[in-house]
Amino acid sequence: MTFEPLASDFYSYGSLLSDQERDAIAKLRAWAEADVKPIAGEYWDRAEFPMQIVKPLADLGAYSFAWDETKPFENSAVFRGFVAMELARVDPSVATFVGVQNGLVNGSLSLCGSAEQRAEWIPKFASGELIGAFGLTEPLSGSDSAQGLRTTAAREGDSWVLNGAKRWIGNGTFSDITIIWAKDVEDGQVKGFIVPTTTPGYTATKIEGKISLRSVQNADIVLDGVVVPESLRLQQADSFRDTASVLRLTRAEVAWAAVGTAMGAYEAAVRYAGERVQFGKTIGSHQLVQDLLVKCLGNITASLGMVVRVSEMLDRGEQRDEHSALAKAYTTARMRETVAWAREAVGGNGIVLDYEVARFFADAEALYSYEGTREMNTLIVGRKITGSAAFV
Ligand SMILES: Cc1cc2nc3c(=O)[nH]c(=O)nc-3n(C[C@H](O)[C@H](O)[C@H](O)COP(=O)(O)OP(=O)(O)OC[C@H]3O[C@@H](n4cnc5c(N)ncnc54)[C@H](O)[C@@H]3O)c2cc1C
Repeated sequence: MTFEPLASDFYSYGSLLSDQERDAIAKLRAWAEADVKPIAGEYWDRAEFPMQIVKPLADLGAYSFAWDETKPFENSAVFRGFVAMELARVDPSVATFVGVQNGLVNGSLSLCGSAEQRAEWIPKFASGELIGAFGLTEPLSGSDSAQGLRTTAAREGDSWVLNGAKRWIGNGTFSDITIIWAKDVEDGQVKGFIVPTTTPGYTATKIEGKISLRSVQNADIVLDGVVVPESLRLQQADSFRDTASVLRLTRAEVAWAAVGTAMGAYEAAVRYAGERVQFGKTIGSHQLVQDLLVKCLGNITASLGMVVRVSEMLDRGEQRDEHSALAKAYTTARMRETVAWAREAVGGNGIVLDYEVARFFADAEALYSYEGTREMNTLIVGRKITGSAAFV
C-alpha cells in the first residue's frame, strides 16, 4: 500500500518514517477512513464505543508497545506518535481507546512490571485478547494525584486488600483488567496493581452526559475490599515516581493525538470551504476564510514539529518530564484554537455532527484536560526553568 503524505502535514514530517513504518501507517489510515470515519459520528451521538474495531486495531499493530524486544518499527516513539495522530485525525475517541490500551496499560506493564508480568500480560493486550484500563484519578484527587490518592492498599500475608474509588477511568465499563494505583498504608507510597475486573468488591459505573469523547466509556470505579495476590502487584513500581514515568510517555502521545484532532477539524473545514458558496463564490476564496485556514495550518505545523522532536528525544533516551509536559501543554492549547477556527469557517454547520468539525471541536476539550491539565504541565515546565515548584 502506498503512503501518501497528508495535505495537513505541510512540511512532510511523514517522510521521516522508514518504508516499513510508512506502509503500516498507510494501512492504518486506509482502514480508519473506510471502517471508522463513516460510523464515528453515529457512535459519538449514541455515546457507545464501536467494539468491532478492537480486533482490527490489534491486527494493525496499534497496541504493540515494544518493551524489551527489538521490533523494527514498533520500537519507535515517532512511529507510535504517527499512529496516535492518524487515529485522532479520524476519531479522537479511537485514539483515546488506543492510548489507554497501549500507552497507559502496556506502558505500565512495560515500565513497572517484572519480566514475568511483562511476558504474561503484554501479549494479551497487544493482541486485543484482553482490554485494559488505567485507574489513577479519584473523585477527590485529579491534578494532585502525586500526593492526594485516597485509595489504599493493605498487605495481608501474600495478598493486598484495596479500598477506595476511581473516577474518569477510560475503557472502565468493559475492561477485563484495570491497573489500579493505590497508597500502601504501611509506607505511604503509591503502588500499582493488575486487578481483574471480575474480582469481588470491584464495581464500575458508566459516567453519563459527557459532551466530549462521547464514544469513550469512562467509569466511576468502587473498590470495596478487593483482594489481589502479591503476584499481581506491579513489581517495579515503588512510588509515584514510577507512575509518573508512564505518564511521561503517554503525555507525549496525547500531544500527537492533539495534532491529529486539529488536523481532522482543519481538513473538514478545507473540504467545506471548497464546496460552500456565498456571495457567488466558494467561501474558501474569501480572504478572511483563508486566514482562518492558514492559522489552523500554522498551528498544526508548529505542533507537529514539536511532537516529532519530543518523540525523537524519547527514542534517544533524552526525553524528560518537562519535555513531554511542554509538548502536551502547547499542542493541546494550539489544538483548542485550531478546532475553534475550523468550526468558525464552517459556520452554523460547524455545530452539526454531519459536518465532522463539531465532533473534533467537542473532543478537543477532553484532550485538553486529561493526562495532566495545561496548568499542571505548565507547572512541571515552570519548575524546571525556575527551580521553584509552584504546585501548592
Ligand atoms: C475523557 C477523560 C478521560 C480520562 N481518562 C482517565 C483514565 O483513563 N485514567 C485516569 O486515571 N484518569 C483519567 N482522566 C482523568 C484526568 O486525568 C483528570 O481529569 C485530570 O488529571 C484533571 O483532574 P480533575 O478533572 O480532577 O481536575 P482538578 O484537578 O480538580 O482541576 C480542576 C482545575 O483546577 C486546576 N488546578 C488544579 N490544581 C491547580 C494548581 N495547583 N495550580 C493551578 N491550577 C490548578 C486544573 O488545572 C483544572 O483547570 C480522564 C479525564 C477525562 C475528562
